[in-house]
Amino acid sequence: MTRLPAIFFGHGNPMNALADTAYTRAWSAIGEALRPRAILCISAHWYIPSTAVTVADAPRTIHDFGGFPAELYRVEYPAPGDPSLASRVQALLAPLDVRRDRAWGLDHGTWSVLLHVFPKADVPVVQLSIDETKPPAFHYEIGRLLAPLRDEGVLVIGSGNVVHNLHAYAWGRHEIEPFDWASRFEARVRELLLAGDDGPLVAYESMGPDAALCAPTPDHYLPLLYVMGTRKPGERASFPVEGVDGGSISMLSVAFG
Ligand code: ZN
Repeated sequence: MTRLPAIFFGHGNPMNALADTAYTRAWSAIGEALRPRAILCISAHWYIPSTAVTVADAPRTIHDFGGFPAELYRVEYPAPGDPSLASRVQALLAPLDVRRDRAWGLDHGTWSVLLHVFPKADVPVVQLSIDETKPPAFHYEIGRLLAPLRDEGVLVIGSGNVVHNLHAYAWGRHEIEPFDWASRFEARVRELLLAGDDGPLVAYESMGPDAALCAPTPDHYLPLLYVMGTRKPGERASFPVEGVDGGSISMLSVAFG
């Protein structure tokens, strides 16, 4: 079986689910080139005090946001689950206690992107939660343990944003220039990814005031560490989607392989 890439998606505004933009077209193009057997997604929006994996045969579509137009609440992404993949994830992460979860489903970090990447919703999807009680190195290490999945027909994706500051975000004015701190931090992240220098990216909290503004909470940044962890030696990084939305949300996607 050919090795699949691992991809971090910058998902941005939930309305991207319904949009037709350069970002969403780039997401579609990524999907057209891939035929995975299943997807394992680590989404910024399943950020809880444990590591859990979805085991439902038919995960529900979760509309985990407030104040958006009614049509966004009507969106369904009826991809099947894959309980056998969930078991495989548990085995790879053992002896870590990975809870089998039947209550969660697919949150908008997952479906707002996958609607464009795999519009037929015919690839099974499993989500893995982010344990909010653990330090960044823990999440990177989980990525390393999940790396074999890439040789088993599983597309490992992270969904978050390298730069995610909603306080500074210009709602409804997507064309404004990125803030200086957003551009600087994103440029530094890209540089380190290209160099394969993971240490500072894992220790991102020590990257100064720009990092504090770009990742004011860890949830949207951490999915990148899982994807980085799956990187094989010598594999180059590429950026299939680029841009900053509303001044403070980086739409950068990062692919390995
Ligand atoms: Zn989000």
